Amino acid sequence: MNDTLAMPLRFYNTLTQKTEEFSTRDNVVRMYTCGPTVYNYAHIGNFRSFIFPDILRRWLRARGFTLKHVMNITDIDDKIIRDSVKAGKSLDEFTSVYTEAFLADTASLRVERPEHIVSAVKHIPEMIEAVQQLTERGHTYVSEGSTYYRISTFPEYGKLSHNDFSGIRAGARVDNDEYDKDDARDFVLWKAAKEGEPSWDTPIGVGRPGWHIECSAMAMKYLGDQLDIHTGGVDLTFPHHENEIAQAEGITGKQFVRFWLHAEHLSVDSQKMSKSLGNVYTLRDLGERGFPPEALRYLLGSVPYRKKLNFTFDGLKAAVTSIERLRNFQLRLWNTKLTEGTNPAAEERARVADSAFDEAMDDDLNTAEALGAVFEYVRETNSALDSGDFRVGNGPSALAFLAKFDSIFDVLRPTVLSVSMAPTEIETLIAERASAKKVRNFARADEIRKELADHGVVLEDTKDGKTNWKPAQS
Ligand code: AMP
Ligand code: ZN
Repeated sequence: MNDTLAMPLRFYNTLTQKTEEFSTRDNVVRMYTCGPTVYNYAHIGNFRSFIFPDILRRWLRARGFTLKHVMNITDIDDKIIRDSVKAGKSLDEFTSVYTEAFLADTASLRVERPEHIVSAVKHIPEMIEAVQQLTERGHTYVSEGSTYYRISTFPEYGKLSHNDFSGIRAGARVDNDEYDKDDARDFVLWKAAKEGEPSWDTPIGVGRPGWHIECSAMAMKYLGDQLDIHTGGVDLTFPHHENEIAQAEGITGKQFVRFWLHAEHLSVDSQKMSKSLGNVYTLRDLGERGFPPEALRYLLGSVPYRKKLNFTFDGLKAAVTSIERLRNFQLRLWNTKLTEGTNPAAEERARVADSAFDEAMDDDLNTAEALGAVFEYVRETNSALDSGDFRVGNGPSALAFLAKFDSIFDVLRPTVLSVSMAPTEIETLIAERASAKKVRNFARADEIRKELADHGVVLEDTKDGKTNWKPAQS
């Protein structure tokens, strides 16, 4: 590899449909990530959309940038209102459980906290001001107490999703927060209050915000009029991000975001994993099956973010094996008694691997290739260790390369296990479960499995009818 020909850091930009060199005027990256809608526990598909910006953050930092990163929590929208009403709970009571669970899950997945995590309901005044500014600039109209964005006033509408909306009927409106491109119409900024729904009494009427306005208002509050990077799942490109652009640029007249980066979906059995299809797994589900969070982090991080990824338990097991190999390699480097001296060939291997890793990550975060460089290095170095060609003086560069890998992938440290039940009590419950199964009382057997899982214990039924237990990792 020739260092003088190294390519610059570059990302695929949905806006231009090109891979472009990335830099900022002051080495600060103003970045916004669309966060979770807290109406349920986040599923592992959602986490793909959060592990990706985490890897992005870490690589930007490795490349000398400083992060100013904002992520929102959507704690008011159509689905939240529907489900909180059904549950008979206030918005706050309903959403706080899922917000906390999301923050706990992302922490155990080692996702760094963005500099600002911001709640939509705490920014109603900023959203109202944004709607008022759009009104002053002639982008809105009111119908039956709701305020809509008139998309014909923003001729560039469609530039992100690359759709031509010029022929759509002016004045037709859509009230739903989510809709597809065949349904592109004037979208709602502020919804008139409805019986039984939460509302705010404001200068633009009694009501509540539409979904899209929160991201424009909060992004601009914390990051200014112009962002360097905006991330989200690919499904957000239209209408959400298209609407974010129309709102922000409708107010400022300036380009809102330079780089739009979208993560592909995680699928299960080749279908999108989504709450509405019911094919979802949560981090907790994986913990109950004995998988530590770093296995999921590895699996989701190992496939470049723009590639489709189909979730399987075999894939997750392979992730566990890969992490083990790297941990064993690190242990070997720590513990092997090496002969004195430095082998230049081993130094060269570390240098080549390190630059291959950099090249791959600079290439729109090609994590698969970066990992390829890591494993090739591990294989070669293991043979050098076998043959005695790896010396004391080669240790630091090997450990430094591994540390660099882990500063991005962050999987080498094992999750600390915790079991909150005495072993005798666990054995008693396992015996009770076996008896329950014998009399086909599967409900009780499931209950016991769940009770044990709540105490950090995972059960494994063996082929010969026995049950082993081990600590869950979560
Ligand atoms: P939501 O909680 O529905 O607002 O989604 C939060 C984030 O997860 C968004 O960026 C979505 O695009 C993303 N997302 C939803 N489903 C998937 C999936 N199956 N794979 C990857 N990302 C997803
Ligand atoms: Zn958003």
